[in-house]
Amino acid sequence: MAAVLSSPFLTSGPVCKEVEAQLNDYFGCKHSKLVNSWTNGAVAALLALDIGPGDEVIVPAMTFIATANVVELVGATPVFIDCDPETLLVTPELIKNAITKKTKAIIPVHMYGQMCDVESIKNSLPKDRKIYIIEDCAHTFEAKFNGDRPGKHSDIAIFSFYATKNVTCGEGGAIITNDKNIYERVIQSVLHGMSASAADRFKEGKYNHWGMEYLGTKANLPDLLACLLPEQIKSIDSKISIREEKAQFYFSKLKNTKLRFPQEKSNIIHSRHLFPIGVGMQKRDEILQILSSKNIGVTVNYRAVPTMNFYKNKYSIPNENIMNSFLWGEETISLPLFPDITFNEQDYIVKVLLDDLIPMIGN
Ligand SMILES: *Cc1c(COP(=O)(O)O)cnc(C)c1O
Repeated sequence: MAAVLSSPFLTSGPVCKEVEAQLNDYFGCKHSKLVNSWTNGAVAALLALDIGPGDEVIVPAMTFIATANVVELVGATPVFIDCDPETLLVTPELIKNAITKKTKAIIPVHMYGQMCDVESIKNSLPKDRKIYIIEDCAHTFEAKFNGDRPGKHSDIAIFSFYATKNVTCGEGGAIITNDKNIYERVIQSVLHGMSASAADRFKEGKYNHWGMEYLGTKANLPDLLACLLPEQIKSIDSKISIREEKAQFYFSKLKNTKLRFPQEKSNIIHSRHLFPIGVGMQKRDEILQILSSKNIGVTVNYRAVPTMNFYKNKYSIPNENIMNSFLWGEETISLPLFPDITFNEQDYIVKVLLDDLIPMIGN
């Protein structure tokens, strides 16, 4: 960071280029572009694909609001689909039923750290027209499905380096793709649609004019933040087993209770970004308050997106249409899980759950 501060470029420059090469290597993809958030990266990606008013984009009802908000932000229409009741992920069947003549893209979300089956999703899409697959990988930097990392079977995969994610620079993200044309549009759509970045405009000591072919946003990551990423990317795979061990501790202590866990496939590497459990709808909010009062930092990931007032007022989607997402959203809480959590801390959390809370919901 000190080196960046004394260099000519505080914003996107040589450090970003280095990290982008590192990402290409890590994901085995052809192109990477660092962005200043998942959200801004996704807006840039949708603009790059020329998705806007009149177009539909299929999004899960069970996800963080950002997945749907970016579709709204470019003026397209999010079409919400339900999730599988066991894995809480979208499936090819659920996607198929939502496709219309207007469908331009689908954004599958790899929830909590378990990847969706993107290859099967791809194979199930109509063959006579292009429907883009944009993976929401905010939870799954280091995850795998059938040995494949994100980005292998989609047109674009987008990551988040927000403060709470497994790899972070406070705010940030990355777009990866194997498609040269998409990449060339993305590097413009992250910079107003400009034909040359600041670094490229001053190449070889002379000023070069830039143009603008189409509308973009401002989504580039500065070198000042990018410099926080290389060491984390190098060490992230070595942390998988640490998070896994913490998750298995919870599973082993809580498995003989009424609590519900998302079902996991056996052919995956889980990133253990979040550890959600279902505690039933009746007592969920009471349980949240009790855990908070005992200094346990719990969160809700997530109430179903169509139940948010903005979406409720705009689309009035009945809960029955997204029943699995709705029910899970009303009963879930996420337990603390991060590499530095100690077994003593986990023991305390488990004790509070077993002694105080599980009796409330019945065994
Ligand atoms: C965090 C998150 C995002 C948004 O990421 P930002 O980098 O904060 O824009 C999008 N989708 C999911 C599933 C997330 O958890």
